[in-house]
Amino acid sequence: MGDITGFLKIKHKEAGNRPIHERICDFSEVEQVLNSEDRMLQASRCMECGIPFCHWSCPVDNLIPEWNDLLFSGNWRGAYERLSATNNFPEFTGRICPAPCEHACVLNIHNEPVTIRENEVAITEKAFSEGYIKPVPPKKRTGKTVAIIGSGPAGMAAADLLNKTGHLVTLFEKDEKAGGLLRFGIPDFKLSKVTIDRRLDLMMKEGLIIRTGVTVGNDISGKELTENFDAICIAIGSGHPRPLKVEGSEFEGIHFAMDFLAAQNRVNAGTLQASNNQVNADGKRVLVIGGGDTGSDCVGTAIRQKALSVTQIEILPRPPETRLQSNPWPYFSKTLKTSTSHEEGCERLWNISTLRFVGDGRSTKGAEVEEVSWETIGGKHTMNPVPGTRRVIETDMVLLALGFEHPVLEGLLTEMEVEVDSRKNIKVDSCLSTNVPKVFAAGDSVSGASLVVNAIASGRMSAKEIDRYLRST
Ligand SMILES: Cc1cc2nc3c(=O)[nH]c(=O)nc-3n(C[C@H](O)[C@H](O)[C@H](O)COP(=O)(O)OP(=O)(O)OC[C@H]3O[C@@H](n4cnc5c(N)ncnc54)[C@H](O)[C@@H]3O)c2cc1C
Ligand code: SF4
Repeated sequence: MGDITGFLKIKHKEAGNRPIHERICDFSEVEQVLNSEDRMLQASRCMECGIPFCHWSCPVDNLIPEWNDLLFSGNWRGAYERLSATNNFPEFTGRICPAPCEHACVLNIHNEPVTIRENEVAITEKAFSEGYIKPVPPKKRTGKTVAIIGSGPAGMAAADLLNKTGHLVTLFEKDEKAGGLLRFGIPDFKLSKVTIDRRLDLMMKEGLIIRTGVTVGNDISGKELTENFDAICIAIGSGHPRPLKVEGSEFEGIHFAMDFLAAQNRVNAGTLQASNNQVNADGKRVLVIGGGDTGSDCVGTAIRQKALSVTQIEILPRPPETRLQSNPWPYFSKTLKTSTSHEEGCERLWNISTLRFVGDGRSTKGAEVEEVSWETIGGKHTMNPVPGTRRVIETDMVLLALGFEHPVLEGLLTEMEVEVDSRKNIKVDSCLSTNVPKVFAAGDSVSGASLVVNAIASGRMSAKEIDRYLRST
């Protein structure tokens, strides 16, 4: 521990965000960067706890106290080496992870956690800018081949580790570019796509083969891959959005969140002309249904597209401002989250159920909603309508951000006869092995929609298991 009283002398300090009036005029990253000196001081606040709860809560087992100490002492290279030992892509998690580590940090008992996530991204950006990160192709190839299907964080992490181990890895992706939801779901203002390209470039220089624009199960069959590769990893994500099955949901102007977000990401990438973007909020009264992170990303995107107004509704109650007794430290706190997009100006409503959409026979003009209340009966949350609260929220554009149900079953999974569980996610054993010989699976397609850090952890675990399998055959 570099400074045993660091946490007493140095206040928690975040880098902060660009001013609202400036950032809503572009899609560049909102979060700013702290100077190196301040960043090292922030690292000095880490107490190197005997039981580091930050480490306990981190899905990729990041050695947080160790790299905080290296950062404090100015050993940026050492800090990156320690960080990358457990996380393939700290530049992604450092930007967009909800940081369960900070929720569990001992200093968070007093609401002043170590700025772990920001420290992580600062270490990684320094490593890139100082040239510490260079392609390191494997010295020897094993002669074994692996096909990874799906290039989100799970597929990328599995591909990265297996390639570094010496297996010849081909990453198949149905979209025109690799990255999965990092590229087409998460808006640029949270994660610049330059960071994904930079990492993919490095991985290709290390020998990874990437084949984009190939839908496995359609353009090439899964069975063909099993004949031509020694092992397969399916990492196709949880691509089936949850619909809202109410009257009028077929009206024009009602879209799934991903159609809206992917279109804007393509406009930013220059692969779709803004004037050809059919899913555009410009001048519209936008209603976002779903109070989670995807809904929040729709809010920020709609504001940047110059929506007339943005309203976000959620069927569940407003979370508390502070932790409830039933949700103590060090668990992830289930408190009200106000994202940078919310700060940019939207109305947020809770306890609102959508009954039907109203329209002119063709396009949506509004959503009839009703307030609800919640009670717990016998441990089960029950929703009750509040009489006399029905009303219509006028809208020209509805964005459905109700989450994802399971991976797409049609095509690949059906063709390969991959077994799914009761929630229709891919069924795997403790080694992430599916029912099909030499076929493994990872990420959201196994767990259901989750987080980037969980996808990386799952991709890493599948790589370990695939390597073990390949060495035994
Ligand atoms: C809008 C949005 C915002 C989010 N924001 C955050 C955030 O801020 N922080 C966070 O931690 N998490 C966030 N998440 C969640 C996170 O993005 C996912 O949990 C994570 O990307 C899952 O990784 P994955 O690799 O399992 O799947 P995905 O990222 O979904 O990647 C799966 C890939 O497989 C490809 N594919 C599918 N079928 C085939 C096929 N047959 N052949 C070839 N390729 C195929 C898909 O095109 C896709 O590229 C967000 C999710 C969304 C939707
Ligand atoms: S819990 Fe917080 S203070 Fe303790 S080791 Fe982890 S980051 Fe440092």
